[in-house]
Amino acid sequence: MSADNTGVYLDHHATTPTDQQVVDVMESTFTTGYGNPASRTNHKAGQDAHELVSTGRRQIMDALGATRSEEIIFTSGATESDNLAIKGAMREAQKQNEGNHLITAATEHEAVLEACESLREDGFEVTVLPVNEHGLVDPDDVEAAIDNNTVLVSIMAANNEVGTIAPMEEIGQVTDEHDVLFHTDAVQAVGYIDLDVNSLNLDMISISGHKIYGPKGVGALYVRYGAAHLEPLFHGGGHERGWRSGTLNVPGITGLGKAIELAVEERTSRTEDVGSLRDHFQERLVDEVDDVLVNGHPDQRLPNNLNVSILGTNDQRLVARLSEDGIYAATGSACSTMETTESHVLTAMFDDQDRIQSSVRFGFGKENTIKEVDEAVDIVKQNVNRLRKFSSF
Ligand SMILES: *Cc1c(COP(=O)(O)O)cnc(C)c1O
Repeated sequence: MSADNTGVYLDHHATTPTDQQVVDVMESTFTTGYGNPASRTNHKAGQDAHELVSTGRRQIMDALGATRSEEIIFTSGATESDNLAIKGAMREAQKQNEGNHLITAATEHEAVLEACESLREDGFEVTVLPVNEHGLVDPDDVEAAIDNNTVLVSIMAANNEVGTIAPMEEIGQVTDEHDVLFHTDAVQAVGYIDLDVNSLNLDMISISGHKIYGPKGVGALYVRYGAAHLEPLFHGGGHERGWRSGTLNVPGITGLGKAIELAVEERTSRTEDVGSLRDHFQERLVDEVDDVLVNGHPDQRLPNNLNVSILGTNDQRLVARLSEDGIYAATGSACSTMETTESHVLTAMFDDQDRIQSSVRFGFGKENTIKEVDEAVDIVKQNVNRLRKFSSF
């Protein structure tokens, strides 16, 4: 980002700046699309808003290869989409006596893991699969975990911490063969991976606006028609097939639609541009700083992701210093109110405290420049040298 009040923003897995084209589309909807889409049978204001929502829905369908408009359920973001997919499908299946077991993996986002945990507390059976040192789930493990009670497999398309891309096709073949639902949290994958619902045998997909240069507070859940039935998380006016009541966020939906359209259009250029920035940063860092380990899969990894352990430093101190110097990155560990919690993703990948506590995530974006990236490497180098000097006393 070159806006004067910000530094070099390298935290695109946390959120992205909103694309100007998205802002432009949204802006006009506040005045022309203020109607309630649910009022479309009453008047033109409702019809106009409904049209805007239909356009957004169509853009998402096109991006995912969906064929029916009922397959797109708008939500408040991917946290809600994940919860609706997992709790909704499991509770409905239990009601229909179709089973009560689901399978997920240790490196999933908290929205998935905590939704599964809450189901476990309610008596559902949950299998949390391990990953290898690159963060990969083995499709054979998925297959081995399936039993007669299994309803759902939820595996993320790409990891938000280390960028590892899951073997989606293979997992989709397994779920298809065994006739269980396949949900994926594709928040980080949109714009980098082809998410065709048919070639991947996907039944449900969670997406979020603000991770793809769209607005915050809006997301969607794709639900294959006739495959999954959901118990809603909340009850009300019966919008979105009765699975997600509440007046639709018309400006947000137009923004999400535009953002996903751009993500598909720009997929090749984003992959190349952002990938070359990441590769340049990684090469320089590994060459010029000692004891840097790259986390995640060496090549089955998002092109915008670089998660590194800079041994002999502390991630929180390093990230704080980088921020003071105008470089915005993320720690591998999360600092909650009182204590530092280690990254559950890295912990699932390997057992190495120094490596886990010195991990920093750089997430590159399409607005970053090579000049910014070079500046960032220089500042990282300076701070690493300083931190290592002091910690050796
Ligand atoms: C950010 C993120 C979410 C949560 O999305 P929100 O729209 O912010 O609720 C879920 N999953 C992954 C992988 C994410 O990166």
